[in-house]
Amino acid sequence: MSKSKVLPHVVSEEPIIAWRMWQAVAVLNLFSDDIVYRLRAVSKHTEWKPRITLKADCFALVSSLAKSSNRQVSVHLIGFKHQVPDIYCRCGIYALRTKEKLFNYFTGMKMDPAKPWTVVSANERGILPDRIMGCTVFGQVSLWGEIIEGEDGYRAEYAYPYDLTVLADDRRIADSLREQYQVDTRIELSQAHH
Ligand SMILES: [Zn+2]
Repeated sequence: MSKSKVLPHVVSEEPIIAWRMWQAVAVLNLFSDDIVYRLRAVSKHTEWKPRITLKADCFALVSSLAKSSNRQVSVHLIGFKHQVPDIYCRCGIYALRTKEKLFNYFTGMKMDPAKPWTVVSANERGILPDRIMGCTVFGQVSLWGEIIEGEDGYRAEYAYPYDLTVLADDRRIADSLREQYQVDTRIELSQAHH
């Protein structure tokens, strides 16, 4: 995605359907005392809240505030306040055009989507203080609002999962995600995605 050439942006009335990957992480629901599963982004761990539209933020702004001596070029170019996503920035909610491009992307990052992973950090907000097994989830995602189209996919202003596929033999995770996000959720055990 980083090498994608930038095409003119579109403002989409109708959602565009694209492909994404997430991590399903266990969180303790303090009201019911149950463990529920939530989606978060694989790279920046952005939390995708259930039944709430995710709106893109500009991480160039965040990182420039954190390291003011090392501001990103994009901040100099377009300033702190800009439409997210902006054609000269790298912000926005990323999604790839096809399922094949999605799996190629993660294979290229030496990540095996079918391999369960373990949450190691105990200090992240909402995550239980033990080592909790999570799993990788992929699926289609609805994108709308301002959308920048690249060679392999999109950067969007708004997004919400369209359907989910859990890459683990764990019905609790699938049932919890379906109940939380109110979208079709299934389990896929085969590793033959390609
Ligand atoms: Zn930006």
